[in-house]
Parts: sequence; structure tokens; C-alpha cells
Amino acid sequence: MKIKLQLVAVTTLLFAQFAQDAAAQTRVRYGAGFTRTAANQAGSQRNVRSAINAGLGNTNSALDGSRTNTRIDRGALEVYGRYNESGKNVGSALGDWRRRRGNIGRNGRNETQIQHENRTRADFMMLIIRRNASGNNGEATPDTGYSCIRGNRERQPTFPHELGHNLSALHSHANNMARSSRNQLPRNMATLVGSAGRGYRDVANRYSNPNVRYRGATTGRLGNRENALRINRARVSRSRIR
Ligand SMILES: [Zn+2]
Repeated sequence: MKIKLQLVAVTTLLFAQFAQDAAAQTRVRYGAGFTRTAANQAGSQRNVRSAINAGLGNTNSALDGSRTNTRIDRGALEVYGRYNESGKNVGSALGDWRRRRGNIGRNGRNETQIQHENRTRADFMMLIIRRNASGNNGEATPDTGYSCIRGNRERQPTFPHELGHNLSALHSHANNMARSSRNQLPRNMATLVGSAGRGYRDVANRYSNPNVRYRGATTGRLGNRENALRINRARVSRSRIR
């Protein structure tokens, strides 16, 4: 009788663990628009879509490797051929994108931004503008899920950096491990959210987590800006933006 009770207890425990793991991963949906100039500079609309796929691959690899229990799913990627981006930088284009109508105009499927966003049910919506735009490489509005990057940054750390902001990650010295001591990332390296303007050569494809190592080095410090922890905590609310 006693043995049987123990078996039941073990089975219950295993099932509870399985249920917890299954419920743990959160999927956040992503959609994007890009300008006609961004497509022309990339060679084709197809090339922009391929670059976005690569960026999402890098982002999911970082989210997995950093143990965030979060995954980004791709929704529709559309060209906004009527958007006049002359005189716009990343910040002002992001403002147009967030307002959803007016300056942005309709996309290649004759949808407004809000119709595109609703159809694809995107929690995060990114706009990609011409690669020679002035201003920052990318910007994001963390709480509302919008971002804008320059073309040619899709395969760079800019892409997972901005989606990291959308998932609540913050800049901090704890993320920029250049100031850290031994057993942490080398002095010339940063994690993704300490990465502004850097290429992958100088960036660990990770969100900071003191329990995760990258090439033998710790990627974060205990403290209030552990980005993998922040993402883990914010992921459910961010998956419910739309
Ligand atoms: Zn940033």
C-alpha cells in the first residue's frame, strides 16, 4: 500500500513538472513593414523578407540560449510603398509607424497599418526604412511593441536589440560587460542590449543572464537589470499586446 502511494506521488510530480514546462514557453507574434527604398536598396522585397527571417532566427537563438522561455513567431511582412520617408530619421519614422495611419499610407495589400497589424495579430510591429537614414540604427517603444530600424540592420545585433527592448530589456553596465572582470565577457564584448552600434564580432548573441555562459564567460550579473529575467517576467504581458 505504501509503495503504491509513492508511485502516485511520483507520477503526479512528473506530470506537474511537464505541465509547468509546457506552459512556460510564451510565443510573441511579430509583423513588419518596409519602405520601397529599403526594398530597392536590398535588391528586392524578397531580400528584405529573407533578412528579417535571419534577424528573427538570431533573436530566437538568443532568447533560447538566454533561457527566457520566449519565442517570436513571424506574421505578415508588407511593403509600404507610399510612405514618403524623405527627411525622416529612425525616430520620426517610428512616430509615423506608431500612429498607424496618415503618413504611412497603405501597404502592398492595400491595407492601412492598423489593418495589417490586426490581420497578422502582431504584438510587435517593426518598420524598416532606408539604410542611409540619419539618427540611430534602431529605436523601440517597449510598452506598445513598436520599433523602427534602418535597412541593412536586420542581420545585425540591432534587430534582437530592439526586440529585446520590446520585451522589456534595458541598457545597463551589467549588460555591457566591457567593464567587467575576468570570468565575464571579454572587455571588448557586450550582450545584445549593451550592443548599440556594434557588430556580431563584438557581441554575444545573448540577453544578460548570470546563470548563462557564452564562450566560457558569464553573460550577466546578479542585480535588477538581468535582461533574461526581465524578459521571462514580462513575456506573458508582451504576448498579449494584440
Ligand atoms: Zn537600446
